[in-house]
Amino acid sequence: MLGTLVVVGAVIVGAVAASPQMDLADLWEATVVDPHDGEAGSGGEGYSFMITSSSGSPVTWGCDARIEIEVNPEGAPRGYAEPLTSAVARVNEASGFTFEVTGETTDRDFDDRHRRTVLLGWADEEEVPGLEGTVAGLGGSTYLTGPGGGGRAVGGSVVVDTDDGGWLGFGGIDLEVLLVHELLHVLGLGHTEDTTQLMAAENSGQSELGEGDLAGLAALREAACS
Ligand SMILES: [Zn+2]
Repeated sequence: MLGTLVVVGAVIVGAVAASPQMDLADLWEATVVDPHDGEAGSGGEGYSFMITSSSGSPVTWGCDARIEIEVNPEGAPRGYAEPLTSAVARVNEASGFTFEVTGETTDRDFDDRHRRTVLLGWADEEEVPGLEGTVAGLGGSTYLTGPGGGGRAVGGSVVVDTDDGGWLGFGGIDLEVLLVHELLHVLGLGHTEDTTQLMAAENSGQSELGEGDLAGLAALREAACS
């Protein structure tokens, strides 16, 4: 028990001494170079990490974190709640992490999520320029890195494009699949060049998590809980 308390204390100290950075990943975009594809060379076969700390571990959430999602329903398609619930359940089961939809909000600050909930909402490219072109959604987390080399996610956001991806069905991709992809970015996975995985930058019809996706989630969980 004491050991646990010491570890928690060290993480908090590291967080206080660090500066927050935002890392949002582009989605489903084939033509524009995406600087947030994942850290080059990180991860393993069929997966990459959004970012790794200086100690080499992927940055993700705490092992026991209750990751709260607040939904801003403005601009959402009718019937969004069911695919959202399914997406959260799928990600929780596959990852071992715990997302929880805690309610609705009018908050639209998708960028500054420092020590705040994961804000999930709908917007257009005028409001969120990252949604420009064929990008259907964005997802990522705000994280802190400490002087000891560790890193922890402390907030995040998911934005679905009202022009392209706000629909319940976009180019063959349904909203549930889109949200699963985005929530995996929030957990810390980047894109993979393996086009058979759900974390490929461009979706070519896959709706289930592939072996690489699952291996990546297992690696995040290992980093969070070891
Ligand atoms: Zn993506």
